[in-house]
Amino acid sequence: MFENASMVEVGKRVVLVTGGGRGIGRAIALAFAAQGCAVAVTGRTRSYLDHVADEIRRLDASALPVACDVTRRQEVEALKAEVEGSLGTVQILINSAGMAPAAAFLDMEDRLWEEVFKVNLTGTYYCCKVFLPGMIASGWGRIINIASTVAKVAYSHISAYAASKHAVLGLTRALAIEMARKGVTVNAICPGYVETEMTLSNAKSMAEKTGKSVEEILELFKKTSPQGRLIDPKEVADLALMLASTAAGGITGQAINVDGGAVMI
Ligand code: NAD
Repeated sequence: MFENASMVEVGKRVVLVTGGGRGIGRAIALAFAAQGCAVAVTGRTRSYLDHVADEIRRLDASALPVACDVTRRQEVEALKAEVEGSLGTVQILINSAGMAPAAAFLDMEDRLWEEVFKVNLTGTYYCCKVFLPGMIASGWGRIINIASTVAKVAYSHISAYAASKHAVLGLTRALAIEMARKGVTVNAICPGYVETEMTLSNAKSMAEKTGKSVEEILELFKKTSPQGRLIDPKEVADLALMLASTAAGGITGQAINVDGGAVMI
């Protein structure tokens, strides 16, 4: 018998979105709130988090803004205590906190390399480590890592970013296998150029270096996609909802591109 269930039925779960104060994380937080989930948003800038929490409440969902630097294990543990005390066990974790500075490999300072790995990889690792036990204990969980198409291919001047996102993909795959019989799926979303502050700030710094205008650089970004456009953060959020849905229980260890067809592996 074919039941009339929605593809994106996620239930009234507790969701944690890192990097939830803006960009892709904000769009994901709002998408889950619109489904009736209780949403905790975390990031470094309190004012952004408060703003998103207000937006979530306007959707009639519970919101909890918590400032936390995901590169600090103790802060992630304190975050867990606060979210559990206020909303309950986190069953859906979205790791969206990230940074993407550009630098020529030989000019790049060691400090930059270390920072990129700390935020993109170690931050994701800490959040998985701290929030997984609750998912396992409740017998159901979803981890969605916002990686990048650069987790699969590479471009010039982003060696630290590309290496850290390739590593996020390795972590996603290994963890998916380890969690396969515990009711927890672990997947990655690999966006191309998304219309966010991150893309705009990369376009600005590229414009400064090349003497082109920001608009010209954004046009170049768009041309990398067969669809000739940037991705809307909401399109990434819709895929996150799909992966978190009950219907996606058999999808794990996958890395799905949202990039208008730019990368086909
Ligand atoms: P963004 O810069 O708009 O947002 C990133 C968020 O991460 C910010 O809210 C920031 O405060 C937070 N953050 C950074 N360091 C943190 C830390 N140490 N602790 C807690 N929070 C921290 O970027 P975005 O475009 O929304 O990107 C979100 C994710 O998507 C990132 O992981 C990024 O690498 C990935 N991504 C973005 C694009 C794109 O084109 N924008 C493409 C592919 C992948």
